[in-house]
Order: sequence, then C-alpha cells, then structure tokens
Amino acid sequence: HPPVNPTLNEADSPFDLALRPANFDDFHGQTKVKEQLLVMVQAAKMRGEPLDHALLCGPPGLGKTTLANLIASSVGSKLHTTSGPQIERAGDLAGILTNLQERDILFIDEIHRLHPSIEEYLYPAIEDFRLDIIIDQGPKARTIRIDLPPFTLVGATTRAGMLTAPMRSRFGIPNRLDYYTVEELQHIIMRSGRLLAVPIEEDGALEIARRSRGTPRIANHLLRWVRDYAQVKAQSVVTQDVAHHALTMRDIDETGLDEMDKRFLEALIHKFDGGPVGLNSVAVAVGEDASTLEDVHEPYLVMQGFIKRTPRGRVAMPAAYRKLGLVPPVSGQA
Ligand code: ADP
Repeated sequence: HPPVNPTLNEADSPFDLALRPANFDDFHGQTKVKEQLLVMVQAAKMRGEPLDHALLCGPPGLGKTTLANLIASSVGSKLHTTSGPQIERAGDLAGILTNLQERDILFIDEIHRLHPSIEEYLYPAIEDFRLDIIIDQGPKARTIRIDLPPFTLVGATTRAGMLTAPMRSRFGIPNRLDYYTVEELQHIIMRSGRLLAVPIEEDGALEIARRSRGTPRIANHLLRWVRDYAQVKAQSVVTQDVAHHALTMRDIDETGLDEMDKRFLEALIHKFDGGPVGLNSVAVAVGEDASTLEDVHEPYLVMQGFIKRTPRGRVAMPAAYRKLGLVPPVSGQA
C-alpha cells in the first residue's frame, strides 16, 4: 500500500486527480484566499486583460496546484505547469515562455527553488513580457530580445520566506493557505466518498478528518486506506469504529502526527533536553532534510502547540511531553 503521508514530491496520481475539485464551488475551505482569487479573476474579466501574477503559499497538499487549475479554467486559459527545480538552464525557461499563447497561465511550483540566474531572466518576462537572451561569449556576445505574449505567472511556494525580495515584489499580496479545520476536512472527505462511491457515515469522515494533519491530500489518502479496510473487514460501510480501527492498524495518530513528526518530538525531548536547539541539529538527529522539517513538519507541530520557534532555536512545549507520555518539566526550568 502507498504511504499514507504522501505530502512529499509525489507526482499526482490518477487517484489525486480524480478527487481534485473542478470548480471553485467544489473547493471547500480557504475562504479568504478563494475570495481574493475570485476578485482577481472577476477584475481581469471585466477589464478584458490577462490576470495579474499571483503567488500561493503554504505547506504541501493544501490545494495550491488545484487553485492554479481553477484560476486557469475560470478565465478559460490554458495552464502550463512546471517547477523551480525543473528549470535548470535559461534555455529551459526560454522554451517554456516561447510556447505560451496570450493569456496562458504559467504555473511554477516550488518557485523558491528557482536558480537565481533563471530568476533574472524571469523578471523582464513577467514585467514587460520580453526575454533577453545572451548568446555567444566574450566580444561576440550579444543579446537577442524575444517579445512574449501577455501571460500570467502563478507561483507556488511552501515557504514565502525563502523567496528572494525581488521575486516577492513582482507579485501582489501573497495568498496564504492554512491548514484546514477538522470540519472542513470532514466535508472534503464526504465529497471524496461520494466520488469514489464509498459508503461513509459522517462520524467515519470525522474520524479520518481528525487524523489528516489539516491536509486534504492526506485526508484523501487515509480515506483510500479506510475504504480498503472497510471492504475487507466490515461490509464496506465506513463508520467511526471502522475508521478508527483501520487507522490504528496503520499507526496513524489521533492528532494526525506522522512518524517523522513523532521522531522530531522525541529527538527534541530526549536528545536535546527539550531545547532550545537549532533546526540543523534536529535534522541530523532524525535523519531528515532541514528544509523538509521546516516546510512540512514544523508548521503543523507549531500549529498544534507541540513546539515553539524561538530566536535561540526550537523548544518542546508541555503538550509534546504529554504526547510522549511524559510529565512536562515545571515551567521556568525548561
Ligand atoms: P498542493 O499543490 O498545495 O501540494 P494540491 O492542489 O495538489 O496541493 O492538492 C492535493 C489534493 O488535495 C488534490 O488532488 C485534491 O484532491 C485535494 N484538495 C486540495 N484542496 C482541496 C479542497 N479545498 N477541497 C477538496 N479537495 C482538495
């Protein structure tokens, strides 16, 4: 069975695609971001102009790619998808940009990972719709200018803070996606259940929602596992009880913590005395990339009140001790 926390670097499977909302009405939650985007779409339509460039920020699996698709379809534009690390050379970017038609939308996922030299090429492209390419070297070097059709850049990033200042200034107000509430996830799971023809009770969806780490992609993947379990063990209806047993069997925590989240807390408490400790030390201790910890694990642990980020490093909160079945140190000592 595929991993139940497929947040990382997973190309979208047919399963994910089948459940992806096809219009804004089906996109539940993120009300503020949705409203902002709808205003943007409406304004562009009224002016008959291409959409403004937009930036979507937030942890993986919250709907950035989905929103980029919805923006494109609501203005009837074609979406071209790529990602920061995929654009290695200026030539790659030139290839992508010269393929765009007027009003097309270019979606660059992980835009904070664009190479700085590529960023330099991108600025004039998004500001003035031109691309200046330097060919040849030394005294023979010269620039060719290519005019581009007016297009829209939609960037997505798991970390707005990692974006260079010039890049950030090219976008308007960033659209920040937040973890979903349990009720929102329950609603999304009920919808997925209908699409997959899984008989599921409200309580069953709630049980899955609680353990989904605030993330629709995880919710859908947990539902897939629970569906299989229900089919084999329980005459296929997903009740609260069935969901509970299915998820317990896969060691999915009641608060949604995954294996790496737990290792993070264990390392913080057992190896570093509860902190403060630098992120890189934790990364070495748990055997995970510091940037993955920062993008994927920390935001959720902070949101749930298990850890705190301080100027001196990461600190375990009382909830983290209780989570591991320990007694929190008396405050003032920690
Ligand atoms: P991101 O680009 O932020 O990593 P995606 O847009 O790929 O996230 O979303 C992951 C999956 O989660 C999608 O395939 C979709 O099925 C589901 N999803 C995301 N947001 C929502 C939402 N608001 N309502 C319903 N399903 C959603």
